[in-house]
Amino acid sequence: MIIPENVLIDAVTGSVAPKTERYVKRVSDLRQVFADREAVERMVAEKGNPLVYQVRAYRKEGCDLWFGTTTIEPGRVGSEYFMTRGHFHKRRDMGEVYYTQAGNGLLLLQSRDGQIETLEMRPGVCSSIPPDWAHRSINVGDEPLVFFWICNVEAGNDYADIVQKGMLKRVVVGNSGPQLIVNRS
Ligand code: MN
Repeated sequence: MIIPENVLIDAVTGSVAPKTERYVKRVSDLRQVFADREAVERMVAEKGNPLVYQVRAYRKEGCDLWFGTTTIEPGRVGSEYFMTRGHFHKRRDMGEVYYTQAGNGLLLLQSRDGQIETLEMRPGVCSSIPPDWAHRSINVGDEPLVFFWICNVEAGNDYADIVQKGMLKRVVVGNSGPQLIVNRS
């Protein structure tokens, strides 16, 4: 029998207590994600390879759901904002829910047949990610972007497709805020 318990989540820092896993991604881990490879190498060499995002999670053996937070630092690489790698789920029948707690972001979504959607991420917004839509979160603000996520433990993350091919569109710094541009067709 699994005993119920509370997990404390800090809306500002994204800390999860108790947590069962955590990983961090620095600029050097995201060489294939950002378009401007020279800017990546400059940041690694000159800016001390900054932290881009971290994921903290709570997963309990025998539970069908797991959840956690992702905290994306504010920052840019070239003309792109700090962002996550982006992924499809291995299980094509399983979606996810994001609940933004702090900061200001964009959720970039791409369907399997190439449709692109963007959703605003701001405190209090709950984003429904349907099954078989790839999703990437982008911090377009000046503060950390913190969001809570929850999905089925069987969903699984498939990063290969997006890391190898890239998403169809990119979000870059425009004259009056974030701008969506074509990355590949
Ligand atoms: Mn996901």
